Amino acid sequence: MPSKSVLAEKILEGLRTVLPNPQLGYGLHEPSFDAEEVSLTKECIESGWISYRSQFVDQFEQMLAEFLKVPYVISTVSGTAALHIALLALGLKPNEEVLVPALTFVATTNAISYCGAIPHLVDSCEENLGIDVEKLNEYLKKNTQLNSNGQLVNKNTGNLVKGIIPVHIFGHAVDMKPLCELATQYHLWILEDAAESLGSLYENSYTGTLGTIGVTSFNGNKIITTGGGGAVLVKDPELAKRIRHLSTTAKVAHPWEFWHDEVGYNYRMPGVNAAIGCAQLRKLQRFLENKRKLASAYQDIFKDFDEITYFKEPHYCKSNYWLNAILLKEEYKQQKDLILEHLNQHKIFSRGVWVPMHKLPAFGKTPRMDLNTAENLYDRIINLPSSPSLIQ
Ligand SMILES: *Cc1c(COP(=O)(O)O)cnc(C)c1O
Repeated sequence: MPSKSVLAEKILEGLRTVLPNPQLGYGLHEPSFDAEEVSLTKECIESGWISYRSQFVDQFEQMLAEFLKVPYVISTVSGTAALHIALLALGLKPNEEVLVPALTFVATTNAISYCGAIPHLVDSCEENLGIDVEKLNEYLKKNTQLNSNGQLVNKNTGNLVKGIIPVHIFGHAVDMKPLCELATQYHLWILEDAAESLGSLYENSYTGTLGTIGVTSFNGNKIITTGGGGAVLVKDPELAKRIRHLSTTAKVAHPWEFWHDEVGYNYRMPGVNAAIGCAQLRKLQRFLENKRKLASAYQDIFKDFDEITYFKEPHYCKSNYWLNAILLKEEYKQQKDLILEHLNQHKIFSRGVWVPMHKLPAFGKTPRMDLNTAENLYDRIINLPSSPSLIQ
């Protein structure tokens, strides 16, 4: 077995074929802009309409709806706000439970907590890094039952379990067909967290359009960005109307009267951000192609390594490869921090995956199943620089 520095050095050497310049810093995921972002932002500012009432907001929502082939898009100030408003529109109430992977970005579980509801943590699988559907099914069989109203009850807490949030980690789709079957069987809605997977396909459909509702994010490090921003993707017209209303301070349209018919939220994306988004969306197809090229270049580097595997998209998915990931084999997982330290010292800004939610103070006592695979993946994942500009 090679000594610790030997493996870190071997990975660094391999990476130099894709990230060749020792003087340059390679960020984890940097945005790509050109003159178009500047000119559309200028146009927006000069129009005087920079809030959510800008025509750029309508245009951005329409372009995104057309790209994803989804009937309704409501753009929001962040992906987190999109998750929150989607959960409210689905009718989530305090003390109800939502099934969510322990291995996700904290936004997913935070949004559940904003509703006063309870994240119920689910284990991941190695095939797609998302929800392990088979394990979840076995768990629900033992730990839940349908009550006389056809609602799912957690036998251990007595709370209702209302829905599932699958997260398409690093752009790789969860296996949605069996998950949708499970959701139907247990009377649960599905809210897809497609924050990382804009443009990824599950079979022939874009992720975010397969569940009851989907959300995505345009944060600065996502595949396309509006600075900060997100969107809710909806098929049902009533649900879309409700989301638009709730996220626009629940204001009833009127030329001068301020009438709000319930507590609403100021969550709509401003026009300035949408203008950047319009420019970015025109490049999405090119970014997707670049990212798949970059992924195959990384795959080439690591194909002869015995110590690690390069994480490849599942067979049913065409991934956007938002973040490239390598997995340390079991015997090498102790070296994760050493490898990260070595790469970061050489300005290759790689990182590990998020600390699983049950390890965070806010979610330490939340209900959960055994989370062995999530914990094991945390020990073994390293993300590599993945900006679309790294390859032409
Ligand atoms: C980025 C991200 C979000 C949304 O984050 P915002 O920064 O609020 O846009 C939600 N879930 C996951 C898994 C994410 O990676």
